[in-house]
Order: sequence, then structure tokens, then C-alpha cells
Amino acid sequence: MIDHNYIYNLLEEGKKSTKKDIKMVLDKARKKKGLSHEDIAILLQAEDKKDLEEIFKIAGEIKNSIYGNRIVIFAPLYLSSYCVNKCKYCGYNLDNDFHRRKLSRQEIKEEVMILESMGHKRLALEAGEDPVNCDIDYILDSIDAVYETYNENGNIRRVNINIAATTVENYRKLKEAGIGTYILFQETYHKPSYENMHLKGPKANYDYHLTAFNRAMEAGIDDVGGGVLFGLYDYKFEVLALMLHNEYLEKEYGVGFHTISVPRIKKAEGMDLNEFPYMVKDDEFKKIVAIIRLAVPFTGIILSTRESHEMRKEVIEYGVSQISAGSCTGVGGYKEYEKLEEKPQFELSDSRKPFEVIKELIDNGHVPSYCTACYRMGRTGDRFMELAKSGEIQNVCYPNALMTLQEYAMDYGDEEFKTSVENMIDKQIINIKREDIRKLVLNNLDRIRKGERDLY
Ligand code: SAM
Repeated sequence: MIDHNYIYNLLEEGKKSTKKDIKMVLDKARKKKGLSHEDIAILLQAEDKKDLEEIFKIAGEIKNSIYGNRIVIFAPLYLSSYCVNKCKYCGYNLDNDFHRRKLSRQEIKEEVMILESMGHKRLALEAGEDPVNCDIDYILDSIDAVYETYNENGNIRRVNINIAATTVENYRKLKEAGIGTYILFQETYHKPSYENMHLKGPKANYDYHLTAFNRAMEAGIDDVGGGVLFGLYDYKFEVLALMLHNEYLEKEYGVGFHTISVPRIKKAEGMDLNEFPYMVKDDEFKKIVAIIRLAVPFTGIILSTRESHEMRKEVIEYGVSQISAGSCTGVGGYKEYEKLEEKPQFELSDSRKPFEVIKELIDNGHVPSYCTACYRMGRTGDRFMELAKSGEIQNVCYPNALMTLQEYAMDYGDEEFKTSVENMIDKQIINIKREDIRKLVLNNLDRIRKGERDLY
């Protein structure tokens, strides 16, 4: 699936490209039909400042025309720090000696109540890999606990899962439990680097990890989220490999990645960042986000709080469509936040509370969205992609974004915030082109203001 020599050849050929070649690729990108491997390699090798500015500009235009100014918000919830793997970059590395634990059902509910009190409606569950201490039944029970925890404003409406590669049978169980996206980062697609980074445990098996989405798809999970941990190998190789993986899934299963995550490696317990020679610089990181946006215009791009406030603000403009907010990366981290006792899996850069993040997004003209309608309406996999490609996001996702923002303002905002949201909605509603939908949304917004919830 990932032919290393093919990627190296593409990158060598890409180095020979002329200004005219770059311009041709950019003209093609503007059409929002995606890019070939050769095109992507040409852009990855582009270094000229003017060319890069053009890449960023077109990425911004594509993002705006497909997603509008909507940004989906979510939070991670760490369930368990038990891990049997030895991954050199990770704080949960088996060699690290700290008090490991997992949340009880009651503790999960307490964490979820805290997340709900921040306004969250979408979570990504995270756990280390341990077949004894954190088996599939524990994960299934955790999903159940999350969905059944209600505060006065409702409950978590979508649970995405980021757990280790597993079997078709287990993926089937996750599907039945009602998960949203199954997320798994390949970490690095470069096999020698993968083997060097993963020294022990089931995760050390490159092929088993790489074929996880085949098993997930076989089990009926059609929203899968890929990603690379940038900093483990050459980013140009990784971006091309990610695109090859996406294309492979499209060919085999009719749909590629629902989302792509772009984590950059951060300091963690027991590791020294100086030992990672492929650290990605800020300018390179921006280029990665923009090129992915040009290459796969309809795939969501997820950015976490590993990135700083400033970086998040900038790359949201080039293509990011989902961000986490108010995150803790320790088990029980939300409750322990004040005490700062819990060991995080890695360090974070943007520690602002969701309210601050949301306020800033609005001030910068973005519409924060807690929408979870698609998967609850069965619009997953190729059905979501059809919707996105038909340009209907503005008529479907956008109204839902406005409605969830109105809910958020009613339930979590003060009078000043409510007024700013209502002003924003007044201005934004004209972006819904279909009159019948606009009317429906206006009616729903009114119902939400009067106390109804979860309309979509
Ligand atoms: N145990 C699961 C697995 O093996 O895929 C879940 C993964 S973990 C909870 C989530 C992700 O955190 C990992 O896939 C990895 O990419 C990322 N991560 C681990 N250590 C990191 C670090 N030092 N800096 C940034 N991200 C890190």
C-alpha cells in the first residue's frame, strides 16, 4: 500500500519542477478536484516565498468555498494510561514509571459532566493499549457511560474513538456502540522509522497498524480518521504516504479518510525532543496543512491544542475544519486540572478554556459548531462525501452550526455573548442560499431561544 521507492521517486521528480509546473498544479487545485501524487510532490518541493503564499491563498479560498467559516469544536477524554507498548515519543511508554490508572464508570461520568459544563457535545476517547487493563469491554462500557451522562443542557452527542489497532470483531462492537469516527494515526508511514520508534508491544507491528482501517471498514465503520505524528520522519514523505493511504481506501472501500489529523510531536515524560531529528518547523507545518487542503478538499482537517494559540489562529485560515478546545491529556485530567497532579500523555500549547476559544473564533468571523447531525442521520462514509462534493455543506452543516451556536449561547453565554452571537447569526443567515432551509433555520433558532434543544 505504501511503496517507499515510489514516494522517493515522486519527491526527486518534484525537485525538478519549474515555475510553470507549480502554476499548473495551483490552477488545477483551484478547481477543487484534488491533486495527483505528482502534483502533491511538486508542491511539497516548492520553496519560493511567492509560491508558498499562493498555496496558502488558494487553500484559504478552497476552505471557505467548501466549509464556509464553520469550525467544529471537540475535546479529548483520556480513559486509561495503561500501555504495553514502548513508543519512544509517548509519555505512556511502558518504560515510564508512574502511577497508571483508568477511569471508573463513575469517574467517566464526572469527567463528562465537567466537559458538558464547558459546552462540549463531541468527544474523542483516548486510551493507551493494554489488552488486560483496558480491553474492548472497558472501552464499550466507557462509551455507554459517556452517552448516558446528561447535565441540565443535554448530553454528549458524538463519541469518536482513538484507540489502538484491533480486530474486525472489536471494530464491529465499536460500530454497534454508536461511535462517530474511528481515529488512528499511523505515526510514521516510513517503515524503518516506525520500527525504530515502536520497540515493543502489539503496536510494534507496522503492517498490523497500517491495515487497521481495512479491518475497521470490513466491520462497517466507514468514517475513519488518519494522521501522522509529524516529527518522526521527513514530512514530505509522510504527506505523500498519507495521500496514498487515502487513495487506497477510496479504491478499496469507496471512501477515504473522513478526517486527517496533523499532530506535531511535543515534549513528553521520558523522552528528549533533541533525539528527534525530523522536527517540523512552523513554516513547514503551515505548508503541510495547506497542501493537504489542496490535495483532498473534502476531507476534514483536525488540529489539537498541541499547537499554540497563534498557530491555530493562522492554520484555521488555510484549511483546518475541526479543533479541540480546553483539552486535558491526562487520565482524570479535567477533575485534576486545578491540582495539576495527573501525568499527561504529552504537553499542550493552547490551554485556553473553550469559552475563550469560542469567543475569539466569533470575533474573527468564524462560526464555532457543535453539530453532530451527519452521523446521527446516517450520513457517514461515502454519503457524507457525496454531500460535501455536491456543495451542500452550506445548506446542511452550516444551518446546524448556527443552531448549535445559538444553543451554546443560550446555555453557556452571558447577555453580552448572547447578543454578539445573535448579531453574528443575523449576518450569517444569508449564507444559507435555499430559502426553504433559511426559513426552517429561523424557525428552529426561535424554538431554541424558547428552550428547545438538539434540533437538526
Ligand atoms: N494507543 C492508541 C494508539 O496506539 O494509536 C491511541 C493513541 S494516543 C492516546 C493518541 C496519539 O497521541 C498517538 O497516536 C500519538 O500520535 C500522539 N502522541 C503520543 N505521544 C505524543 C507526543 N509526545 N507529542 C504529540 N503527540 C503524541
